[in-house]
Amino acid sequence: MRATTASPALFASLADDVVASGSETIAVSVPATGEPHHDLPRSSADDVRDAVSRARLAQLAWARAGFAHRRRVLLRAHDLILDRGDLLLDLAQIESGKTRGQALEELYQAASVTRFNALEAPRVLKGRHVRAGVPVATATRVRYSPKGVVGVITPWNYALSLAAMDVVPALAAGCGVVQKADDHGALTILALRRAFIDAGVPEALWAVVTGSPDEAGEALTDEVDYICFTGSTATGRKIAEKAGRRLVGCSLELGGKNAMLVLDDVDPEQAAADAAYACFSAMGQLCVSIERIYVDRRVAEPFTRALVDRLSSAKIGTGLEFDADYGSLASAAQLERVTGHLDDAVSKGATVLVGGKPRPDAGAWCFEPTVLTDVTPDMRAYAEETFGAVASLYVVDGDAEAIVAANHSEYGLNASVLTRSPRRAQRIADALAAGSVNINEGYRGSFGSVAAPMGGVKASGLGRRNGREGLLRFVDPVTVSRATGLLQLPRTGAEFRVLSGPFLLLARVLRALRIS
Ligand code: NAD
Repeated sequence: MRATTASPALFASLADDVVASGSETIAVSVPATGEPHHDLPRSSADDVRDAVSRARLAQLAWARAGFAHRRRVLLRAHDLILDRGDLLLDLAQIESGKTRGQALEELYQAASVTRFNALEAPRVLKGRHVRAGVPVATATRVRYSPKGVVGVITPWNYALSLAAMDVVPALAAGCGVVQKADDHGALTILALRRAFIDAGVPEALWAVVTGSPDEAGEALTDEVDYICFTGSTATGRKIAEKAGRRLVGCSLELGGKNAMLVLDDVDPEQAAADAAYACFSAMGQLCVSIERIYVDRRVAEPFTRALVDRLSSAKIGTGLEFDADYGSLASAAQLERVTGHLDDAVSKGATVLVGGKPRPDAGAWCFEPTVLTDVTPDMRAYAEETFGAVASLYVVDGDAEAIVAANHSEYGLNASVLTRSPRRAQRIADALAAGSVNINEGYRGSFGSVAAPMGGVKASGLGRRNGREGLLRFVDPVTVSRATGLLQLPRTGAEFRVLSGPFLLLARVLRALRIS
């Protein structure tokens, strides 16, 4: 097995970068062994407030430094991410238990997001002239003012991608960031942050805190100027209430129960390969993973056989090489959650088509990729997000039934359609209620398109990350309008009497010329 370049000394030195003044620590266990692996300092509410105050000061200079400076620093960080790729991949694997391939997807995405925001922020946020209400009399410009200090709250599953997708656009827009990292994944975030610090981002501008949701999490959402939350829908509702009370903005990237539609014209082997990856990459612990497969009756039998064959012969492991197909669940809590959903379903009559067992031989929290059928609405796995290792397969008759079933969910994050017909795919994509739809792929098309907005409809979230929308979250548009002095706007009754005719005529002319 390949030896890691990450050493206990490195873990300790990364942990030192957490803003925490006390001596309390958090012992973090890792998936390969299930044993305590490193300690993290625990941030208190005071530490969080301190981090926000320092970030405020740093943000003023960062915003003044301008787009060209920020672009240079972020492009340097991009290069350092790639130069330090092996170490970042090792850390992401050690902390999350995902395979090297899936860690690589994250690394690639972190670099893409950094490049996109470095290059696009100046274009998207440079401000613009707009048509004034009464041309000639006034001239109007919109500028974008950074919101200040953003609180970024991330879960444990995709430390590199999620930190990059929310922190980097905030920095590119001229904001400061205090990020509350989950205990699992904090070292990966701290190593990513180091690349940015070494590239020239001031230490205080991107601070990382740890600790309990009730203390550190609440203190953060009490203090910051904008909240960028990724996590469960239940926590998202609490964050939205807090943001509403404080009248600060928030973006909420929440849960999903994502559906894949397998139409009757697919190649069953190809479709099974796509479905297996879409359901079980990162062992299903990805917000956009597929948890519901709706397969047309006409291909159900060969598709199911190919899926079962593929999954039952897949290699599961936690080594730091590219050899395993599937990795581990991320924590003992995740193992409990998965077995809870599975036991509940089986006790109520579901059938296990493949998988269903823990694999301690491959890693402490490894679990077989599991596909269920005969899943009914009284089972938790039917509508609740499992977020790991379990997908359900339903046989449907025709496209219309598949669309209705896919949309029958409180969530609407991602969806996928497998078909050889581009026209059918497009028609179905238009009918699915989801923030992203992937054709002949599970999630990677949209997840990897960092120039396009990503987010959910219904209970899957509010707001969007990535693309222009992801940058515009972090700024307040400010409209600056100036009287030109070339034409005086009316102020007295007599002046209005004289100008009322020309004003109304102007409205008709603009309408006739289709000028908005
Ligand atoms: P979670 O909501 O329990 O926790 C997420 C983060 O929020 C953690 O860091 C936690 O410490 C913090 N937190 C919890 N309560 C808080 C509070 N009151 N104030 C401030 N911070 C608080 O979610 P989880 O179980 O750790 O993560 C899995 C969930 O995340 C799944 O539902 C998954 O779908 C979702 N997720 C969504 C996306 C997306 O982009 N839509 C991406 C990844 C994960």
